[in-house]
Amino acid sequence: MIEGPRLDAERAPVVTVRPAVLERNARRVADRFDGELVGVTKGVSGDPRVARAMLEGGATAIADSRLVNLRRLRETGDIDCECYLLRTPMRSEVEDVVRDVDVSMQSEPSILRAIGAAASRRDVDHRAVLAVDVGDRREGIMPDDLESTLATVETFDGVEVVGIAAHVGSLNGVVPTAESAAHFVELVERAERTVSRQLPIRSGGSSNALSLCFAGDLPTEVTQLRVGEAILLGTDPATGEVLPGFETDAFVLSADVIECKPKPSTPDGTIRRDAFGESPTVEDRGTRDRAIVALGRVDVAVEGLTPVRDGIDVLGASSDHTVLDVTDARGTVRPGDSIAFSPEYGALARSVASQYVTTAYE
Ligand SMILES: *Cc1c(COP(=O)(O)O)cnc(C)c1O
Repeated sequence: MIEGPRLDAERAPVVTVRPAVLERNARRVADRFDGELVGVTKGVSGDPRVARAMLEGGATAIADSRLVNLRRLRETGDIDCECYLLRTPMRSEVEDVVRDVDVSMQSEPSILRAIGAAASRRDVDHRAVLAVDVGDRREGIMPDDLESTLATVETFDGVEVVGIAAHVGSLNGVVPTAESAAHFVELVERAERTVSRQLPIRSGGSSNALSLCFAGDLPTEVTQLRVGEAILLGTDPATGEVLPGFETDAFVLSADVIECKPKPSTPDGTIRRDAFGESPTVEDRGTRDRAIVALGRVDVAVEGLTPVRDGIDVLGASSDHTVLDVTDARGTVRPGDSIAFSPEYGALARSVASQYVTTAYE
């Protein structure tokens, strides 16, 4: 792991994790999806306690986009489920992929050939799931190229293609629909005809496929879903809304107040660009009580934070300072107080990955 400054456990800023909430959210998915639930831990840097809660809630495998996170999971010793690498690997990772992960997503034959060669040297077959691009235009083989790509990769030694995966929503916000799910099933069937065998892993999507699933519109041919956000935050990434019955408070990010003073709400002086190259415009609301918390853009995507306490607004942030308007806050705010925030996905992912933010468990 990356070495950072030594921080005492629970020193602020701190992300507090509630594994019991994660377990219940995972169970809400597992109870209603008749297939394999793969818990996705990339939003929490592969945190083993989070993975364990997902497994206890009914996930049967864990997936992460980064090898370093999967290695961290393995090193805990008590997570012995199958581990998937979600992001198609870099060429420099092929040896490690073969050694450290059970199944990987693939979309580039040249990389997969190198994976096969590395697997053959170890006398094993590496199991690969081919990613298809069903419209989001991030990773994946274009549908028209699927059969020819399969014909090529079937000739590689050391590689066993065990499935097909579709992923949408992450780059262009394409959402799964009954039609796109049917199209995916058709692609899987075409792939199975090409290789003349069944492909056991038909991985139909992520959290944004859950609304479809819960409405009964996910084809039964989809045997697997890879779910992160719905378990972690209880939200549907397609709409940003809470999935019915899911809990949203598995994570709280807390930061300490280091200054609190009444100040004019507008700046005074000649204005150019701020530290991030932007020229903010500020509404004049007179003198307001402003608090600074010891947390900044280095630690978290500040736009993705919602203060838990009513009446607090996030005004802005620089690298190491986040400024809040606490004039209308319930109760008083003083230096030394801790302010709690509810993070969105990107804010959670970045804060857990930050070497300046500690993690604590309830
Ligand atoms: C991140 C990711 C997922 C999980 O997405 P969520 O929206 O967190 O459920 C699934 N598959 C792939 C390929 C991903 O990159």
